[in-house]
Amino acid sequence: MKQVLQTLIVLFTFSISSLSAQTYNSYYNSVVTDVSSSNILADLITFENFGLKDVGSTAISNAQNWITTRYQDLGYTDIVEQPFSYGGNTTNNIIITKTGSVYPNTFLIIDAHYDTINGTGTNDNGSGTVLMMELARLLKNVNTEYSIKFIHFSGEEDGLIGSNYYVNNTVIPDNLDISLVLNIDEVGGVNGLINNIIVCENDQDNTPSANNAASAASTTIMANCFGLYSNLATEISYAYASDYVPFQNNGEIITGLYEKNETPYAHTSSDTLANMDVNYLFEVTKGALGAALEFAVGINSLDVTTFSKDSTISFYPNPSSGKFNIKLNENIVENFELIVLDILGKEVYKSKINNQIETIDLSFLNKGVYLASLKNDKARITKKLVIQ
Ligand SMILES: [Zn+2]
Repeated sequence: MKQVLQTLIVLFTFSISSLSAQTYNSYYNSVVTDVSSSNILADLITFENFGLKDVGSTAISNAQNWITTRYQDLGYTDIVEQPFSYGGNTTNNIIITKTGSVYPNTFLIIDAHYDTINGTGTNDNGSGTVLMMELARLLKNVNTEYSIKFIHFSGEEDGLIGSNYYVNNTVIPDNLDISLVLNIDEVGGVNGLINNIIVCENDQDNTPSANNAASAASTTIMANCFGLYSNLATEISYAYASDYVPFQNNGEIITGLYEKNETPYAHTSSDTLANMDVNYLFEVTKGALGAALEFAVGINSLDVTTFSKDSTISFYPNPSSGKFNIKLNENIVENFELIVLDILGKEVYKSKINNQIETIDLSFLNKGVYLASLKNDKARITKKLVIQ
């Protein structure tokens, strides 16, 4: 909802990609490679087909039910619809919590508004909405040290009503411990333009200012993650006029994503899929997922409902001269894919694993340490392989 200011104020700096700040994480990359452009496209179409989702409309209720059902289908159980009223209408924030394994009471908040104004809002903010649902799909079975709250806000277009309500009625009374707020608003790009830069927004507001340095640091980390996990360049700018503002005002550390080529169609009936660049949103999703893994500290681990412990899979002998047997100790073979990465994270081998015991021959590789990642849509395990 912020096209005017951005064009008036051109205070920005180009980020210099710092190779030392974040290191490439091959496990994070293996999660990021599962981002699905067909999921993103299908969800954008659904979002658009609901129509104009202003507060009080049937369309926004339909979108709300769609979002809530999606998280239920993904297996999330802590889903709260938070109603609030204004202007004679009631609408809902949707808050989904994933519990962290080390810091369960500290929350990375990822948020995007799903209400729209004057049109279907496929970019503003269908783009952020479907990005978040794709992140939630891929983070579901990732063990994260920090808890994550995915929040779909309503009432943003009417003046950040939903996020203000959440800060005043949840964050403040519950004294919620928030590590960072990552706001995603209008990241769909413009059809016909070269969309290859994402704006990473930091907090340059001085009321308060004590949270600005941490915001700048987190925003730099996020920009670096785009360099590692997407093909987009980054630009650092300032945060304004979206749902992170009430959090900022409360002293929280915030960051945000916003498209560089700003759609001229926001808040009109022309904010449609046809005027967007879905491939750009695909790349934004990849970078955002890499950043979310970095911020929540993703730990390479298993879906406990599928694997009881690491020892259910073994690679032997290990070290070997290149021939490894893979043994699945339980009858859990379901379309596994094996990907072997070198220490730089480059994929050097890929195959399907369809039997409980299989042999792979990696003797064509140089001696050294590799990572073998075995995964299907339910589980993932990564183990170190040594070729000597
Ligand atoms: Zn918006």
